[in-house]
Formats: sequence, structure tokens, C-alpha cells
Amino acid sequence: MTKKALINIDYTFDFVADAGRLTCGKPGQEIEEKIVQLTNDFLQSGEYVVFAIDCHREGDSLHPETKLFPPHNIKGTAGRDLFGSLQTLYEQHKNNENVYYMDKTRYSAFAGTDLDIKLRERGIKEIHLCGVCTDICVLHTAVDAYNKGYKIVVHRNTVASFNEVGHQWALEHFKNTLGATVLS
Ligand code: ZN
Repeated sequence: MTKKALINIDYTFDFVADAGRLTCGKPGQEIEEKIVQLTNDFLQSGEYVVFAIDCHREGDSLHPETKLFPPHNIKGTAGRDLFGSLQTLYEQHKNNENVYYMDKTRYSAFAGTDLDIKLRERGIKEIHLCGVCTDICVLHTAVDAYNKGYKIVVHRNTVASFNEVGHQWALEHFKNTLGATVLS
């Protein structure tokens, strides 16, 4: 059996809730049930589950996103909690050795993190992606995964964006340019 991992990207209060600081709103909220179901499936089958979660400092003048977006996912705030019942599921399993919660500071979960060596030490060559936004953090993670030689699977109904055009474009890009399997 191919060893695989689920990379659960940025499904947090700030990115999904109506009151989140950089929310993708309704499209993000609509995938809650599917993302929880997919995460639970991976947990139940003993696969590796990674929560790759944006982490910023307030007023970080050197960070490139400071000029682009309002402050979001600030370290130590509830804005970084996982959204809805995904937080509950995470709480139930956070001590499981197959669960890895990691901070990231750039769009890609691979940028400046130990994700690649964590996957390699487990012999994982196939990664499944879910979360938000399809055309920003999921996309940049997929591009890095492609360049590192991972087989990529994206579950269409577990990714979302505030930008419907960008969402659709990214799904095509995963499939046609990154060779990903896009599952419906
Ligand atoms: Zn960010």
C-alpha cells in the first residue's frame, strides 16, 4: 500500500469564519463537513495527518504579506484555531503520533518548514491536499510538492476560495500542469 499523508491547509477561524480577519466566507464554510470527513478517514486508517497552519506576528514589517493582506492568523490568538468541528476532531487526536500540527509563515507548507523531512522519514510519496484557499496556500503547497516529486491528490470538495475563478483555475492547474489527481 502506498503510504500517504493528508496536508490540511489553513482551515482556521480567520480564514473561514464570518468574523475571521481574512475570511473566504461561505465557500470555506460549505466544505466543513467534507474536510472533517476526509481528515477522519485518514485518522481512522492510520495515515499521517498534517495541519499546516499560517502563523504571523502582529505588525511584522518584514513579512511580504503585511503589504498585501490585513493581519491574520496571529500567533496566540483564537484566529488560528481550526474552524468548527475540525478543531474538535483535532483536539481528540492531537496526541496521536500520526498527527502533526505545524506552523508555516508562507503560502506553501514546504517553505521554511520541516514538512519534507517529516514526510521522507515516513517514506510518504503521495500527499493529499485540502483546505483554503485553493488558489493561494493550497496552490503554492501543490507547486512545491510537484517540484519535490510527490504524487498529488486534491479532493475537489475539500478545497475552497473566496475567488471562484481562481478556485476553478487552480483545480485545472493541479490536474493539467502539476499532474495531480483531482477527485470529486
Ligand atoms: Zn498569511
